[in-house]
Amino acid sequence: MDVVREKRGPDLFHARHSFPPLCQIRERAMGGGKGKLASSPVIAAISLIGVVYYITVFVFVDDLLGLSTSPGRLNACIFSWLAFMCLFSFFVAVLTDPGSVPPSFAPETEDPLKFGEPLKYCDKCSTYKPPRAHHCRVCRRCVLKMVGMIHLMLINNDHHCAWISNCVGYANYKAFILCVFHAAMASIYSMVVFFINTLEEHHNFEGVYNKIFYVLFGSLVSLLSLALSTLLGWHIYLLTHNITTIEYRIAVRAMWLAKKSGQKHHHRFDLGVYKNLSMILGPNVLKWLWPTATGHLRDGTQFAISKADDRPPVSPNS
Ligand SMILES: [Zn+2]
Ligand SMILES: [Zn+2]
Repeated sequence: MDVVREKRGPDLFHARHSFPPLCQIRERAMGGGKGKLASSPVIAAISLIGVVYYITVFVFVDDLLGLSTSPGRLNACIFSWLAFMCLFSFFVAVLTDPGSVPPSFAPETEDPLKFGEPLKYCDKCSTYKPPRAHHCRVCRRCVLKMVGMIHLMLINNDHHCAWISNCVGYANYKAFILCVFHAAMASIYSMVVFFINTLEEHHNFEGVYNKIFYVLFGSLVSLLSLALSTLLGWHIYLLTHNITTIEYRIAVRAMWLAKKSGQKHHHRFDLGVYKNLSMILGPNVLKWLWPTATGHLRDGTQFAISKADDRPPVSPNS
């Protein structure tokens, strides 16, 4: 049997009959995600959303259009909706368990490659891992379809996202993407309102504190717009190709080798743009932008494989 182990694994009898690892029991006993809201990066992110919202609506939209006018109220409503959806998606991403290996998970003994990749064993959890699952040192357990993070556009091995104090995985990836999407839209909206207001001809900047405020806020929304747009663009690429950051990092060499030999590398989970989007956002397009519309998710241990792959496809379960 073709089994890939990180070091050494026990036989399959023990894998099928193993108890949940101690780290998983401890995680559940800690009460899951509620404690995550008290972490410093999460508090900083919520504070940032609050500050940008208040200044954009009550300073710049009010100054530019007036909150008592119809255009002013319309702009305030649009921005409030973006801010609400950003915050709502953020809380869902923080509080939703990304998914751990079900105790009932039993590795496929007849055909280890049936689900798209060789079976892997995690020595830390003492259990076999489903396809696309990876171990997180911070969560101290294997996370289903772990997406992985990028920092300053450099893909590294730090898979845990500090900003949501959680891993991004199978069950909370939709909420994470929607949080990034609404945050990027809100930042660009805020930046446009700021520059239109600032570049108005009749505007004068009196007082040193006024000038510092404009420079700081302009820099903040410009940097946020750039960083979040870049992050959104990267995740749109991942979404439309049904690939995770970790899988992309692993596939870089395969893509280079395929290109060198004049061939095209095909990711085995890439089912086409619309199907890939449906796998993450759901089958109903009208619910794509709602972070808790995740009724299409299953147990996260099996994934449909592209027909371009040389393995036979399995029934969709993601
Ligand atoms: Zn593990
Ligand atoms: Zn983690």
